[in-house]
Amino acid sequence: MDPFDSNTAERANLPRNMIENSMFEEEPDVVDLAKDSAAFPTFPALDPDEVVFEPRSSRLLVRGLGENDMDEDEEDCESSARLLGMSFMNRSSSNRPNSSLYTRQAPPRSCSRPSVRTMVVCVLFLVIVASMTMVLYFLPGCTFTKAGCRKPNQTIPQETVYPNATNGELFPWAQFRLPHSIRPLSYNLTLFPDLDNMTFTGRTVINMFVLHNTKRIILHSDNLHFTKATLKLGDGEASDVTILEYEPNQQIAVKFSSELKAGQYCVLTLDYTANLSHTYGGFYNSSYTEKDGNKRFLAATQFEPLSARKAFPCFDEPAFKATFLITINRKPNYMTLSNMPLAKSTLLSGGLIQDEFEKTTVNMSTYLVAFIIANFTPISRNVSNTQVSVYSVPEKKEHTDYALNITSKLLEFYNNFFEIDYPLKKLDLVAIPDFLAGAMENWGLITFRETSLLVGKQSSPLEKQVVASVIAHELAHQWFGNLVTMSWWNDLWLNEGFATYMQYMSLQAVLPQLDIGNLFLAMRFRAMDKDALNSSHPVSTKVNTAEQVEEMFDSVSYEKGASILLMLNASLPGDQQFRKGIIQYLKQFSGSNTDTDDLWNSLTQVEVSTQHQNVSEMMSSWTSQKGFPLVTVSRKGDQVTLTQEHFLLTSDNATHTSSLWNIPVTYVNDSCSLAPECRQVFNLKTKTGTFKLPESVKWLKLNYRNTGFYIVHYGNEGWAALQDALSNNVSVLTHEDRASLIHNIFALSRLGRVSFYQVLTLLKYMPNETETTPVMEALLQLNNIYRLLDKRQENGLAARMKNCILDNFGSLMNNQTWGEEESVSKQELRAALLEMACTLNEPNCIQQAKALFKQYIESNGTSRIPGDLQRVVFTVAAQSDEDWETLLHMYGHATYDAEKRKMLQGLASTQNTRQLVWILKEGLNGEIIQTQELPLVINTVVKGFAGYLFVWDFVQENWDRLIEKFPLGSYAIQSIVKSATSQFSTQAHLDQVQGFFSGLKGRGSQMRSVQEALETIRLNLRWMDQNLPTLRKRL
Ligand SMILES: [Zn+2]
Repeated sequence: MDPFDSNTAERANLPRNMIENSMFEEEPDVVDLAKDSAAFPTFPALDPDEVVFEPRSSRLLVRGLGENDMDEDEEDCESSARLLGMSFMNRSSSNRPNSSLYTRQAPPRSCSRPSVRTMVVCVLFLVIVASMTMVLYFLPGCTFTKAGCRKPNQTIPQETVYPNATNGELFPWAQFRLPHSIRPLSYNLTLFPDLDNMTFTGRTVINMFVLHNTKRIILHSDNLHFTKATLKLGDGEASDVTILEYEPNQQIAVKFSSELKAGQYCVLTLDYTANLSHTYGGFYNSSYTEKDGNKRFLAATQFEPLSARKAFPCFDEPAFKATFLITINRKPNYMTLSNMPLAKSTLLSGGLIQDEFEKTTVNMSTYLVAFIIANFTPISRNVSNTQVSVYSVPEKKEHTDYALNITSKLLEFYNNFFEIDYPLKKLDLVAIPDFLAGAMENWGLITFRETSLLVGKQSSPLEKQVVASVIAHELAHQWFGNLVTMSWWNDLWLNEGFATYMQYMSLQAVLPQLDIGNLFLAMRFRAMDKDALNSSHPVSTKVNTAEQVEEMFDSVSYEKGASILLMLNASLPGDQQFRKGIIQYLKQFSGSNTDTDDLWNSLTQVEVSTQHQNVSEMMSSWTSQKGFPLVTVSRKGDQVTLTQEHFLLTSDNATHTSSLWNIPVTYVNDSCSLAPECRQVFNLKTKTGTFKLPESVKWLKLNYRNTGFYIVHYGNEGWAALQDALSNNVSVLTHEDRASLIHNIFALSRLGRVSFYQVLTLLKYMPNETETTPVMEALLQLNNIYRLLDKRQENGLAARMKNCILDNFGSLMNNQTWGEEESVSKQELRAALLEMACTLNEPNCIQQAKALFKQYIESNGTSRIPGDLQRVVFTVAAQSDEDWETLLHMYGHATYDAEKRKMLQGLASTQNTRQLVWILKEGLNGEIIQTQELPLVINTVVKGFAGYLFVWDFVQENWDRLIEKFPLGSYAIQSIVKSATSQFSTQAHLDQVQGFFSGLKGRGSQMRSVQEALETIRLNLRWMDQNLPTLRKRL
């Protein structure tokens, strides 16, 4: 089925309106509040929930300035101005010259040959105009309400204006967040999915407790069509109630006459129908084709962050935890799964089977609820009293062993590490053929992409590393996120930063052979690159719209969150304080919700050493402000001075901040630089700090093994000393420290603090470098520059950059083998070097890759390409039209998903423009190439010279279809926006990108990723302007 065959939004709206209308026709007694406002006097009264004033929704709350009242043009102007960073004054003068009162009334012609009388009139007029302007200017905060203009700081409560519900009545709630007067206690959810017609009906029974008196129940619902609703108070009878809906906030209100009293219990029962979603959110349908050509259907859920409301009406915020009893009806040829074990199956009339799951034994946030209707097969094992199962489609069952083994090991590790046993009786891990995210940590029912869970018998260690990492991450969530949950999405990092950190920490302990440390280090570099932009945000940041909730799923929440936890752990005395702190945190808040301060307080409270640190004081500087510090080192005799400032790449000096961080600076020097004992610590809390060092010390390296989240500038002498030391002996520093120097000097070059000549000088030691992390970092940075030069058609410079790369890495490239390799670290190094070599058309590389592909084709599946080399081999093969066709055929028949993805990357790397256009189109259509792969396709196509402009055209032309498939702000759309614009470095492209996104208005113009994309192009442009002369001279 083509998911974009018809406009799903239109189709979904039609039955909803019909059902609502018929509901009202059947119930003529319902009071029409729009006609009789006196019959509904309770809504306008403020209740305690409404005292909270949310700035983002303020437009709704001011009478007379409702959201709909804002002039559309005005809104457009405002959003694009925000996007472009224009000041209000610029905006009013440049955008609206013709609408200005003054322009219209100013009499320039009559004053051109003025008489005295005219002069007097003109002067008088100008005085009046000036006075009016001043009055307006000095009343910037004036809001035009019924009561007139308020003075600043005057706290007159504003009358709340409620929006209109879909039926035209007043909807009794105007905020994005739900009121706190009602608390759900338990949900009883019964579902009847119909996979033949892709619809479902449901009944949701919610037991609730009234926390304080209220006349409304507000909860979430999105595209559910209610057929019946009843409310039962205490032991009373259930009576019919009416449901009002306010679509923009995806909320419904239950309408009833009496006031609910604090301490009362009530039961809301809602019957509804809905379509299974065609996207990747909510309760969605999916299909896959088996080897024999049979098409199979399934339905699965993905609720985080805001989609549980698409499957059942609920209080869909993480702090509204409750228990769940789930029942699903199915046909006999399907099976069902949910968070809890199956309690019983009952045969219903008509041959259907009803599966009832056990009631959850834990309180759970709605976004963690999950269910699947499919026909998957499991393999299982009992691990510490938990039944662990891995499910896949039947023909991929043989790929599930690795996941089961790793899960068993990691579950035991976490049970011991956290000193809290995994609380459920079962843990299912399910590979879903069509799944957008990498995986989702639903409690007891973790869902994965096939590539994140399945491992073939001959999979490379690198592919195993991916699977083990994702499992380790999702298992960590069973504690961080599921057991203890952030109160609101502003602190998403408490879930994601922690799970990301624990994934690396647990794998280092359980599977050291996976060399996970290299991946973690590279990840920290990329997190810094993003956080150095002005468009970044604090780890813990305000979130007041659905789009902003989606946007929290970014590298700041995940990677920066994990990085600052590593820095904290590395700076704490002893190796147990961190662990003891998080155990205390988990135990104290088990089953409830927290914010960032709760974590820091728990860590501060655990005293295991006399060197007690105030964690809260230190860490709040890292979570409450965006970005990170640049530490500049200067030495005078035995005195070392450190200065900190915000490392902000943006070219706009006006955005300079006075942020200060509490930095646990670590350093080593030439007398002792490798062992952990060499590490010394200096806490830099103020703008500058000094410490002493023997004058005999030749060089200093700060940020030992790059465990801190900051960049260091050593000054000309400091860099020269380090470069000297490395030229003599690369082993004077750990490989992490060498990679850190390379990352930092490229970052400083991008900031404009060091010239590119200094970068090249440091790289002179490179021919002696053989370790994975420094080589990969240098290759990545040089490759980025090479690609930009190539796209700007700076052919001469691109050729010289190619020579520079080959000078530094040529011998290392030639030393790589093409056979099986067991070490993950060597695989990573080899893959990076050979991909670079083949990108640069190195004859040896191309020849080897072609030979391997030929051998692979001719062997008819018996010979294998080592997993880490598949991408480079497929990429080389795809450059010939004939082999591209062969590869496409293989892609259509491949069953092992990890290999299939590499084939896809090969296909997308073609330089044949017809093939490029085809592959982009198919990625969106979703038939031959699953739509979940579109971000990967775009990211691959854009790197090639032939494809980068096609990608940009494609994104512009298909924007509406893209945001229909991937929600605004979501990780997928962030990735698409950033990839599609990443190769631009000219003013013309900047103007184009700016023009397109500002024209989108509410369809994405305000996404943070758009700001990030624009900022990145500006920085590329600036870098080129500043460095092209140096490149011409020195490269
Ligand atoms: Zn996660």
